[in-house]
Amino acid sequence: MTNIFNFSAGPAVLPKEVLQQAASEMLDWHGSGMSVMEMSHRGPEFISIYRQAEADLRELLAVPANYKILFMQGGGLGQNAIVPMNLAGRVREPATIDFVHTGSWSGKSIKEAARYANVNVAASSQGEGFTRVPPQSEWKLTDGAAYLHVCTNETIDGVEYNLYDFAPELPDGVPLVADMSSHILSRRIDVSKYGVIFAGAQKNIGPAGLTLVIVREDLLEHALAICPSAFHWKTVAEHESMFNTPPTYAIYIAGLVFAYLKAQGGVAAMEQRNIEKARLLYAALDADDFYRNRVAPENRSRMNVPFYLRDESLNERFLAGAKARGLLQLKGHKSVGGMRASIYNAMPIEGVQALVDYLNEFAGR
Ligand SMILES: *Cc1c(COP(=O)(O)O)cnc(C)c1O
Repeated sequence: MTNIFNFSAGPAVLPKEVLQQAASEMLDWHGSGMSVMEMSHRGPEFISIYRQAEADLRELLAVPANYKILFMQGGGLGQNAIVPMNLAGRVREPATIDFVHTGSWSGKSIKEAARYANVNVAASSQGEGFTRVPPQSEWKLTDGAAYLHVCTNETIDGVEYNLYDFAPELPDGVPLVADMSSHILSRRIDVSKYGVIFAGAQKNIGPAGLTLVIVREDLLEHALAICPSAFHWKTVAEHESMFNTPPTYAIYIAGLVFAYLKAQGGVAAMEQRNIEKARLLYAALDADDFYRNRVAPENRSRMNVPFYLRDESLNERFLAGAKARGLLQLKGHKSVGGMRASIYNAMPIEGVQALVDYLNEFAGR
């Protein structure tokens, strides 16, 4: 097989070293005589895997002691219902939830939350085709909202918050909830600014089927009575994510990824590489008008890079040529068309360089 670079938006590329280690341990984990898939989630072997994964993630993101880390199921879309069911009870009924609408994923969150509470779209960039994050000065927040929801990296639209100066002033202790599914662990974050962070694993962490939730302890107390026990954060926290059987194999792979990231120098080191990868790719797209990315430069995602060919009748030829060079899964999301290159942590700079070389060649530069 020639060098393959997989630009899928998710499920997505994993570090080769992690897959090799998982393969070598597939039939017999550390002399236990069992595959991780065959272990009881309550046995000492799996408990040690779980505890190490939790500790490594806590270290990687510097998660403060007053936050719980939950390993759940149901995906990012599941959390779109689970978050309101756990937080709407923070205020008196009828609760209102504030949203910033920056693309497809925050749009889905708004729609789902409306089944559980009133929703207020505090700001939206829909009228501008989701090409920027509306500045905080434009947000129209609700007094006494249950929480504010943001999607800090819009995977389909390629819009990312600049988190360096992101510290919204929210009245009356309104918690900030962030869907970080597609950029968690790609850059440093200050967890203490958030009430809740959630992320489906299949973009930047590990296999599908695992959802991470990082939640401040005081926010475990506000669930609606209708919240299913298996999705009740407090119940999940009290059982160390083992109220019901957790996605054990996905947790094991995520743990291998966390250990790999630590060995690479942690999140700060990944962030530097991701900045460089994104710089290379956007520079090739901006070189002339053969390609185009419409997102405002300060909000361009470092993880998901959507782009269009000036002449869209060349799309199929572009994709076929890419595939022939081992550059896979570059087709854009069906809702927006065009192309998309997802360049998560596990995409090496060599992969981005190979894509850049192809972009230049195809444009006849
Ligand atoms: C992929 C994604 C989701 C949905 O995750 P599922 O696991 O399919 O439910 C939610 N939010 C964002 C930002 C995503 O990228």
